[in-house]
Amino acid sequence: MLQVDVRDLHHGPVETAGQLAPEDPTFAGLGLELAGPVQVQGRLSQTGDQEFFWQARLTGRLHGTCRRCLTDVVYPLDTDVEVLFSADPEAGDDPSVYPLAAPVTRVDVRPAVREEVALAVSAYPLCREECAGLCPRCGADLNAGPCGCAAPSD
Ligand SMILES: [Zn+2]
Ligand SMILES: [Zn+2]
Repeated sequence: MLQVDVRDLHHGPVETAGQLAPEDPTFAGLGLELAGPVQVQGRLSQTGDQEFFWQARLTGRLHGTCRRCLTDVVYPLDTDVEVLFSADPEAGDDPSVYPLAAPVTRVDVRPAVREEVALAVSAYPLCREECAGLCPRCGADLNAGPCGCAAPSD
């Protein structure tokens, strides 16, 4: 459940667990290439009159392109999230605070999932740490072995 009724929070923290499919509207327009659903496991608690703290872990898998050899890679998404949701207009200036419309009747954590997943995307994934990349001269994939070009002299 990724939307929590504020009345439930009056009794204490509420577990937020769920999964969002790659085609979920939460991720619309981000240009992400998710290789599976994003799992959300977290805990929402009320920390003020109109303020809520959300601590969560987001896991999933993403498609990307190895920055060295340009093959398709699937790499893990695994990020810890700690954010505030607030209906306080003054808090709206803080980019780390997610605004809520007052009066708050429920807290929807999905906007935070959207942002945090977007932030967690690696711009430069590697197929593996020791990827040899492509030969800058002939473009051969050096993971498959030497290409026959002369070794570059330093
Ligand atoms: Zn590679
Ligand atoms: Zn070469």
